[in-house]
Amino acid sequence: MREEFQAPRGFHDILGEDLRKFRYVTSTIRDILRRHNFEEIILPVVEYADLFERSIGETTDIVQKEMFVFEDRKGRRLALRPEGTAGAVRAYVQNRLFAQRTYHKVFYEGPMFRHERPQAGRYRQFHQIGVEVFGVAEPHADAEVIKVAHEIVETLKIKADIEINSIGCKVCRPAYREALVGYLNSVSEKLCSVCLDRKDRNPLRVLDCKVETCKEAVKEAPRVTDYLCEECRDHYSKLSEYLKALGVPYVENPHLVRGLDYYTRTVFEVVSPDLGSAIIAGGRYDYLVEEFGGPPTPALGFAAGIERIALLVDTPKEREPVYFVIPFGDVIPYALKVTDTIREKGKVAELSYRKGNLRKQLDFANKMGYRYAVIVGEDEMREGVVSLKDMETGEQVRVRPEDI
Ligand SMILES: [Zn+2]
Ligand SMILES: [Zn+2]
Repeated sequence: MREEFQAPRGFHDILGEDLRKFRYVTSTIRDILRRHNFEEIILPVVEYADLFERSIGETTDIVQKEMFVFEDRKGRRLALRPEGTAGAVRAYVQNRLFAQRTYHKVFYEGPMFRHERPQAGRYRQFHQIGVEVFGVAEPHADAEVIKVAHEIVETLKIKADIEINSIGCKVCRPAYREALVGYLNSVSEKLCSVCLDRKDRNPLRVLDCKVETCKEAVKEAPRVTDYLCEECRDHYSKLSEYLKALGVPYVENPHLVRGLDYYTRTVFEVVSPDLGSAIIAGGRYDYLVEEFGGPPTPALGFAAGIERIALLVDTPKEREPVYFVIPFGDVIPYALKVTDTIREKGKVAELSYRKGNLRKQLDFANKMGYRYAVIVGEDEMREGVVSLKDMETGEQVRVRPEDI
């Protein structure tokens, strides 16, 4: 196949068993969100590039290296969304949702785009379901959002650990930042070149670095939780209390900072030991709505990576029973009607388009895992019945189509 007719590098089709897993994951998550009364919002895939640069942060990998940015015909800079929160906040402000109610709980689902090096389970178009809660500062919202994440891994029977941290607010973070930069300067000979570059502009991210020497160097770094102001400390301890009340297991990770600039106070990740990385991640972003021109509105949320979660689940084996209608002889009008009658009863029916004898047709039905063969010959048509064969038991009966 010519290269220009193939999917671009890092992009892929989702089909067959992969798609069944994908749908199983998304429908399970959607059902959890339905019970938590989150409302869906469909966001555009394209936004102005500025929106992401301002919110995610100019110094992050996403903005510096991974965004698909292009110009439209009028020369405006657009981007394929690399994540969902910036667009959700933009929609919240633009649609003046803040004027309708004191708080909103929304979720979105769809493709995100990042120009990453393609590797197993990582694609340049990947899919997320994300939730956002706008207008609540109190930590019981944080606890409920983390509970949703916990329910997702529990329901899908995924082994994962929830890590939480608080990274403070406008009041307390400057002092921590100063202490951290001072410390990083004292161990700068151990830092990788990327961290040397970002230690002054975005020092918290050094705590996130996966390079061994950096991980070693930051072990003794000052902990953000030791620098929290009274309000942040109170918020964080209430969150712990509420998570315990909900029975959500968690570990405190004082080095968890999340890569994006917009986070405040609570940050959390659901980490899969099997993948060695996060499958759900989120936190609080209390200033972002205001930065986008809305009223001061505390908010928080998370995003779940569908493909990465799908790597960790087994699809349920049970599939809906399929009725495979096999016509013989000059019976097509009757077979069409029979197939239709089965579908009208809410069951799954397929009219066979195959040629070949009954044996071959039954072998095919077996191979496909179809539960019933509905044999329609000229005799059956004359009597207004079908021969219904149960492919598992081998039992065969004559019934009227409407009695199936
Ligand atoms: Zn604070
Ligand atoms: Zn580093």
